[in-house]
Amino acid sequence: MTSSNEKASDENVEYTPPPKKTYPDEKGELWGHDLYPERRGSKKSSVMKTLLMKEGDENIGKYHCEKKVYTCLKKHPVVKLMMGALRASGCPIDIRRHITCEVCDKSVTGGYDPELNQIVVCQNTAKIEGIIGSVLSHEMIHMFDYCRNNLDFKNLDHLACTEVRAANLTYCSFMSAFIDGDASWFNLRKRHQECVKRRALLSVLAARGVTPDEAKAAVDRVFERCYNDMEPVGRRIRSSTDDMQKALFEGSLFGYDL
Ligand SMILES: [Zn+2]
Repeated sequence: MTSSNEKASDENVEYTPPPKKTYPDEKGELWGHDLYPERRGSKKSSVMKTLLMKEGDENIGKYHCEKKVYTCLKKHPVVKLMMGALRASGCPIDIRRHITCEVCDKSVTGGYDPELNQIVVCQNTAKIEGIIGSVLSHEMIHMFDYCRNNLDFKNLDHLACTEVRAANLTYCSFMSAFIDGDASWFNLRKRHQECVKRRALLSVLAARGVTPDEAKAAVDRVFERCYNDMEPVGRRIRSSTDDMQKALFEGSLFGYDL
């Protein structure tokens, strides 16, 4: 399975070996992980499941998820900024084609599938609008990098770089912890960098069958360069501030028509 997968939560997560690899790439090599049971038509509806009304639950879950995705596309400032940036970069998002709600492995909330150029929102784990907004922003960074840089997700450094950028511009910046308390600017910066490193490491581990040491080495190799590459958001967004609105406003100045 060729995607980068996001961990549902990184607090106190122990590294566990990734699940069995099931999808061979064009060279017949097995890499990446099958965390999306519905992907590539591998899901088969069973009589048992239908009898137990599970299929119906899944359809209702999909409907609710799609409604919330739509609201995020209309309202979430960073999601809107990313939509504009993708359009301006020649990779406009068609909601029906590029975003899909699916049932996923419980350990992830979303993913980006570069083969299909599709964002997966996990309807069973990403249920509230706030989380769906974060998933969409994060995966849209991967989509933007794929569009802009012709990213090769099989190259570990490329993967590490786009995960550093996504953690930097979304998850670690949305967390209010970084503006709370009496932390000095230096401590704040250090904590933010640690958050990005940890988050990127977990994402790389979730997406690829590499050891923690290999993943950490890749994140360290690309960190300096990719942490400071803030296109197209342009700033590290702090929650509870008007940074999101500022980024959205500046996006229009830089030609990302929104
Ligand atoms: Zn990611």
